[in-house]
Amino acid sequence: MSRFLGEQYQSLEAYTPGEQPRDMQYIKLNTNESPYPPAPSVVSAVPEDEVGLLRLYSDPTAKALKEKLAGLYSVGPENIFLSNGSDEVLNFAFLAFGGKGAVFPNITYGFYEVFGDLYHISYEKIPLKEDFSVDYRDYCGQNRLVVLANPNAPTGMSIPVSQIEEIVRTNPETVVLIDEAYVDFGGETCLPLIQKYDNLLVTRTYSKSRCLAGGRLGYAFASPALIADLEKIKFSTNPYNINRLTLRLGEATVDAEPYYQEKCAEIQKTRAWTAEQLTALGFEVLPSRANFLFARSPKIDGGQLYQELKQRGILVRHFTNPRICQFNRITIGTPDQMEALLAAITQILNEINERRSFCI
Ligand code: PMP
Repeated sequence: MSRFLGEQYQSLEAYTPGEQPRDMQYIKLNTNESPYPPAPSVVSAVPEDEVGLLRLYSDPTAKALKEKLAGLYSVGPENIFLSNGSDEVLNFAFLAFGGKGAVFPNITYGFYEVFGDLYHISYEKIPLKEDFSVDYRDYCGQNRLVVLANPNAPTGMSIPVSQIEEIVRTNPETVVLIDEAYVDFGGETCLPLIQKYDNLLVTRTYSKSRCLAGGRLGYAFASPALIADLEKIKFSTNPYNINRLTLRLGEATVDAEPYYQEKCAEIQKTRAWTAEQLTALGFEVLPSRANFLFARSPKIDGGQLYQELKQRGILVRHFTNPRICQFNRITIGTPDQMEALLAAITQILNEINERRSFCI
């Protein structure tokens, strides 16, 4: 830290992204990226002359992409906000709507807390229930910014839309932000509710189900007035927040919808198979509607399993928070990758068994 950093940021703890080591080729199951490439038509969507056009700024209104998304999701372009990854919508939403404070679960996406700290928003973290589910009643009548990931991360568990509606209905004076980063893997969207409630903000990302994490593209749905607020923040910080190439890729992605539906279905199938195999190995696996599983084994410490897998070239995500430190979050990869994961776990558990019987 330099001596120039504002005093208010000196104790800020930044978000720690999942590791991206370059020392060897890992099977990467730690940041919930898609194991599949973008659709072939997306890969070829950027013509050479678009690269030449990089001398010009991108369209700050992102009109073409908004219109395509509006068609796909049956909303108006005025209901859509586009961002440089959904982290950016979250950033703008905390800045714009966090004035009365914020509330979110104690086990959820770690960035919410960082945005709260960054903007000096007073926030409360409400514990998840014993079974790691969200008790929706905790969020009714809060009268401050409510932020819920649905499905939640890192648990993968989802909240029924009827309960989301109750939360939105009982907080009419504040924004309820539902982060649907993982909704395409079997979750239930609350998108239709934006027509009924002017305080609901639904955020989405191209990073997971649209195989475009490196393109940095996120979006949000809400009433036109909420979208206008976000646009105001965007035009006060970085009007050209999405580059020309990513805008083109985003449009081509909408046109390739059937490809992505198919990949999401494949991931759900692989998820069910992996959960079954882990359960057979004695793991407790939380019921996931996302592209990852959250699992713990009574036979091995969560941190140790993470380390042993890493030594074998497989990366999963481990969190040190005491409530969840026995778990690992495992991104669903291809069937081959999951077979490699299960073979490695079986080997690790066998070695533990052998060591135990040797000691006896
Ligand atoms: N929300 C949740 C719940 C996430 O897990 C992530 C990914 N880390 C994001 C939002 C942000 O994703 P992106 O910025 O890549 O759109």
